[in-house]
Amino acid sequence: MTEPPRPSRPAISCVVPAFNEAANLAPLLTGLTAQLAVLSERWEIIVIDDGSVDATPATIAPWLSRPGVRYVRLSRNFGKEAALTAGIDRADGEVVLLMDADLQHPASLVPEMLAAWVRGADMVCAARASRADETWAKRLGTAIFYALVNRNAAVPIPVDAGDFRLMDRKVVDALKSLPERNRFMKGLYAWVGFRNEIIPYVPAERHAGTTSFSMRRLARLAFTGVTAFTNAPLRLWSGVGVLIALGAIGLGFWFIFEYFVFGNNVPGWATLVTSVMFFSGVQLLSIGILGEYVGRIFDEVKQRPVYVVGSEAGRGAISGMTAGMTAAMAAAPTAAAMAAPGKPPA
Ligand code: UDP
Ligand code: MG
Repeated sequence: MTEPPRPSRPAISCVVPAFNEAANLAPLLTGLTAQLAVLSERWEIIVIDDGSVDATPATIAPWLSRPGVRYVRLSRNFGKEAALTAGIDRADGEVVLLMDADLQHPASLVPEMLAAWVRGADMVCAARASRADETWAKRLGTAIFYALVNRNAAVPIPVDAGDFRLMDRKVVDALKSLPERNRFMKGLYAWVGFRNEIIPYVPAERHAGTTSFSMRRLARLAFTGVTAFTNAPLRLWSGVGVLIALGAIGLGFWFIFEYFVFGNNVPGWATLVTSVMFFSGVQLLSIGILGEYVGRIFDEVKQRPVYVVGSEAGRGAISGMTAGMTAAMAAAPTAAAMAAPGKPPA
């Protein structure tokens, strides 16, 4: 089945999760609105304020007086995966672009990503070309995580491809149809399938502020990823159980042999104590892993929403926008900003 050719200037929705990004939003929106206006007449930027406690709402306010920027404030901090979900749920575009608010994802890469979509790719991921900027601990953790997941998951999750990606409408609809609450987005993108294309890029430094992902938070996210995409940790204990049982049979034979050949010498309490300790450790660990899965099952059956919206403002420019208006917006915040009051600051 052949698809009709894709429009070279589709309606673009750009989803930007933001948690305490007051210092980054103005430069981000200035660059991004200019870039999007060059690429299409119909576009929107949906900023998802993930319960920021800084001046993020005030920073965004001047941008909402004209079409283009939409603002969704979640009722508290739900985490980046939930914020992305909230944005994806609202995006109206034929293509949806996901982008961080801290200017680490260069808007200058968007034309190349869009060109790949026009050529027929359903999902275009920008994959970081290097991890030289990360600490060795983070790189090691990442390597272990992908090795563990990709050895066992039914669908491999591409290494180095993060949340900076452009998706076709049908990919977005597929993502929206996944009901799970423990949302490990990188796994979900891979799970839905479709034609992928990867574009390497070098992430910029964070413009202002610090990362919200501590090692602890990353470890938690990795655990969600592992438990959501493989049952390997559960299966591991069956393997360990079989090994231990085989060892016990071998040991039994040894004891019989010892009894008949050397006579009944003094039984070793050291062996007893160490083996009791070792096996209680193994049991606690396996119960703990079971508990992790049970906890996640409990999260799913509770059927709570992934996020709660506190307020929404602004409107997109996906329909009813003329080329002239977009051209004026591309020039913002110079000519267009001066023409009308309440325009975003330069
Ligand atoms: N973010 C979010 N909610 C959170 C943490 C982060 O929406 O609880 C956003 C953040 O504002 C940024 C993006 O997710 O736009 C990536 O976060 P960050 O730069 O802290 O992570 P890193 O780039 O270090 O992975
Ligand atoms: Mg960042």
